[in-house]
Parts: sequence; C-alpha cells; structure tokens
Amino acid sequence: MPELPEVETTLRGIEKKILNKKIISFVSREKKLRWLIPTNINKLVKGKKINNAFRRGKYIIFQLDECALIIHLGMSGKLRVFNKKVSPKKHEHWDLNFSDNWTLRYTDIRKFGVLDLTKQNPLEHRLLKDLGPEPLGNSFNGLYLFEKSRKKSVAVKQFIMNAKIVVGVGNIYANEALFKAGIRPTRQAGKVTKNQYEILSSKIIEVLKEAISEGGTTLKDYSNAEEAPGYFKKKLEVYGRGKQECFNCKKELKEIRLGNRSTVYCNNCQS
Ligand SMILES: [Zn+2]
Repeated sequence: MPELPEVETTLRGIEKKILNKKIISFVSREKKLRWLIPTNINKLVKGKKINNAFRRGKYIIFQLDECALIIHLGMSGKLRVFNKKVSPKKHEHWDLNFSDNWTLRYTDIRKFGVLDLTKQNPLEHRLLKDLGPEPLGNSFNGLYLFEKSRKKSVAVKQFIMNAKIVVGVGNIYANEALFKAGIRPTRQAGKVTKNQYEILSSKIIEVLKEAISEGGTTLKDYSNAEEAPGYFKKKLEVYGRGKQECFNCKKELKEIRLGNRSTVYCNNCQS
C-alpha cells in the first residue's frame, strides 16, 4: 500500500512535469474507483493549468484556478508521467493530457483509489478536514502526542496510526519508530510519558524522512498491500522480522496482530 513516503516521492516525481502547463483534456476509462469519478472533470480542467501540487496526509491535491483535484492512491494506485503516445492498458483508468504532449496516467489494479473534484478549499473537503497534523510539519512533536493521549487506553501503536491524531504513520513506520523509541506497541497510549513521546515523535520523523530520501532516488513498485517498499525493506529492524533475532539484544522478536495489523517488537528492548 502506498504510504506517506511513497506518496511524497510520487508527487516529487511528477510535479515538475505537470505544473503550469495547459491541460488539453481529462480522459477517464472508468466510472468508479472507490467512489464515482465526477463526470464534469474534463469540462472544468480543460484549458486550465495546475498552479500548485501538494500532499496532505496520503492525498495529492492539484490546485487549479477555480477548482482542485483530490487524488488518493488507495491500495495499489500509481501515477506516472510520460511524453509519447502510449495506448492505455487494462487498469489504467484515467489520463490528464497536457499541451506539450506530456500525459499523467493513473493505474490502479484494485480500484480503491480516489479522484474527486472540489470548487471549495480542498483542505475543507470531507476527506481532508478532520486529518491530524503532518508528521513532518511544525505542529507535530512529543508534547502534542502526550497531550492528545492523556486518559486514552488504546494501544500506542494504534494511537499513532490514527490519521485524526497524526497523518501518514503507516504500519511499517509505526513498528519501526516504536522499536527505535524502545516503546512496546501494546502499551496504553495514556501511559506513555512525555519524555517517551518526545523520543517517539523524533523517531517517527526520522523513519519517514529516511524512507522519503530512499524513495527519492528510485520509484519502485509497491504491489502488495502488506509489503514494504523494496527500497526500504533492507533497512527495516522489526517489520517483517517476527521470530528473527533482535538486532540489539539477539533475543527472538515477537509478532502479534494488533488492530488486525502485523506488529513486531522485542520484549527485551521495548517496554
Ligand atoms: Zn531486543
């Protein structure tokens, strides 16, 4: 599943090719992804330019003069750009075509992605308005997590994976950050100390930044929902390593299901 670093990498990979260029057409070969694709997109974007492209959580937003497109890659979505005529294949659901012959094409085998259009402020859109702060933004830190978590009995791993608390901390990154911070994923969020949240927030930032910088060099496939992106896999310390040796203490890593997600930790190094 594309996580925040993959979405950020995707955005960085496509933005230079699409910004401030005249759109000549939007072509959809599918009525519905996760939800219906609005039928008025071509009419509203044709002849316009994308003035700004940015990420909010795992959403990509293209801001035009009078409307904005909101894109989510779902479980298996991919965006790519190319500048020669290539006939669409199966699962290649929509194209944005530009006047200099570049095309932005969306592919999604499982069709859980989203394409919506709004004439309002996109940050007020129903999908975006309740999202928590960006983990790489200024308002995310240990004090914020500490204050949000008081009296909460939910496991700290599920707490940091809740997009209303903070966006973009996917399963892989939650596992890795908790290991680096020495915090057991099952601990009640309300019982984690302020000092531990300071460490945890800095480890979340570290893990995400590292994944983005790795992803920035190559855009590889992330085909399987529970699979780590190939370029990041070799650096993972706990995710996907259940029953293997802990890199710190050599004891066997535990693997459990928490909120139905694979959760790996070291009983010895994390408390
Ligand atoms: Zn250990």
